[in-house]
Amino acid sequence: MFQGEKVVENKTCKQCNSSFEITDKDLEFYEKISPIFANPGVEKETPGLKINHDWKKYLIPSPTLCPDCRQQRRQAFKNIYHLYKNEETGLISAISPDKWLNVISQKEWWEESDLWLTFWRRYDFNKSFFEQFHELQCVAPRWNLIQVWCENCERSINIANSKNCYLVKSGWDSEDCLYGERVFNSKNIVDWYRVKFSDNCYEVYYADNCFNVHFSKDTKNSRDSLYLSDCENVSNCIWCVWLRNKEYHILNKKVSKEQFLKYKSYILSSKKNRDNFLELFYELKKTIPVKCIIIDESENCYWNEIFNSKNVFYWFSVRDLEDAKYVYDWANSKDVMDVNGDDNGILGYENCSVFTPYNSAFCFNVATVSDSYYCETSVNLKNCFWCVGLHDKSYCILNKQYSKEDYERLVPDIIEQMIKVWEWWEFFPASLSPYWYNESEAQEYFHLKKDEALKQNFNWSTYEAPFPKVEKTINANKLPEQIEKIPDDILNRAIKCEVTNRPFKIIKQELEFYRKHNLPIPRRHPDQRHADIMAMRNPRKIFDRKCDKCEKDIKTTYDPDRSEIVYCEECYNKEIY
Ligand SMILES: [Zn+2]
Ligand SMILES: [Zn+2]
Repeated sequence: MFQGEKVVENKTCKQCNSSFEITDKDLEFYEKISPIFANPGVEKETPGLKINHDWKKYLIPSPTLCPDCRQQRRQAFKNIYHLYKNEETGLISAISPDKWLNVISQKEWWEESDLWLTFWRRYDFNKSFFEQFHELQCVAPRWNLIQVWCENCERSINIANSKNCYLVKSGWDSEDCLYGERVFNSKNIVDWYRVKFSDNCYEVYYADNCFNVHFSKDTKNSRDSLYLSDCENVSNCIWCVWLRNKEYHILNKKVSKEQFLKYKSYILSSKKNRDNFLELFYELKKTIPVKCIIIDESENCYWNEIFNSKNVFYWFSVRDLEDAKYVYDWANSKDVMDVNGDDNGILGYENCSVFTPYNSAFCFNVATVSDSYYCETSVNLKNCFWCVGLHDKSYCILNKQYSKEDYERLVPDIIEQMIKVWEWWEFFPASLSPYWYNESEAQEYFHLKKDEALKQNFNWSTYEAPFPKVEKTINANKLPEQIEKIPDDILNRAIKCEVTNRPFKIIKQELEFYRKHNLPIPRRHPDQRHADIMAMRNPRKIFDRKCDKCEKDIKTTYDPDRSEIVYCEECYNKEIY
């Protein structure tokens, strides 16, 4: 909790029965984000004015789900992991072709500015809000993929201002990046997770300002190296852990330039050589401490991967934030609570994949939205309630255009009805997600089996995409190890994944990258490679543990059963710098 924050209520989660706390600061926030409308109950005649509305704030009550269950529910509304091709329309989309939704190309969606006019609903006070919203969801046109100012970015989603990218999940200002999640201002990156300002890297996990670095994790300002873990400002190093400002090191020991080059060509020549040394690398890693939690240049912040922020509580993977709570993968924002994905917001609550929200709540897949509630798959909305698939609109309800006056008269009536039937204010029920649970981000962080998901009222996809059409298939273990022995014909074949047996293809751009860097071609399906990288992540959970050096109590993402040596921040900094 923040300093001076007081618990005012203990609640039990409606979903998982765990207890959670509501504080005075939470209540202040809910009040701040609550909308104000004319109070329909107190209209009265006033001399000189026909109707004098009294204004009423429609208070957003404290949530009924615990923070984890709220996060899980929002994440069920985000899919950047599974893309499908609709054989009939040729469109690639995050929505599988067997769904009931009206998916159109992004180009068509932007060009047909009045397309929305055909699809609207008049609010029916005899039906519940969520029922009517679902009816609108089924017919309203929605874009196939979120791509803005991109060129040749086939099968990439949530990507902006980028070129020649393939199977990118969230990217900005990048070129020639293939297979990975979250890339910013980088080029020539293959198989990665969270990379920025980097060039020519392969299999990197959290890389910042790296050049020609492969098979590495948590690496900053480094170049021409292989197998690094937690290194900064190093060059020409192999199998090194926890190094700062070094060059020509192997297994953390200084070597000559000649020795270094000899080893480098030796490990790149065969998988067997690499595997032998990898064991030594893992042994070395076991002896070197890790930092309990990653918080950089931040003040009064709690939880993991927090950069340049202030007053941030219960956050993961965030930067440049102030006054925020229960937020994940978010940046450049102030006064936000319960949000996942994207950035640039002021006053936001229960949003998922929302870019530039202002005073808005309960939205997903929306960009530039202000004073709006319960909207999805829309861009540039102001004062909209319950809308789907719109752009550049204001004063709409269920996609129907109203005058400002009519809008302000009708919305309070609808809210009053929602309060009566307990729809005020929760995020959308999971059944209204255009993605099923096992396709969504929720499955990445809260893994469920089919029966468990169905029990929690999530949907479950059984859609199987058809296998790529290829005449020739090759088993992964039949592939030659050296890249120079791989003929161009590999582009006409499907490789059978060594783990899952699922066939996958190599694209030309990718083959050129492996050849340029003398790297073997992958033996695992891209989905398996993604799963491998995800398995490297610590969970988004905080455990109590003792510092392995000074024994003080620490909070950490390293489960107490794990074998790593975990240091508190002070001990870690003392040892390393
Ligand atoms: Zn819960
Ligand atoms: Zn310590």
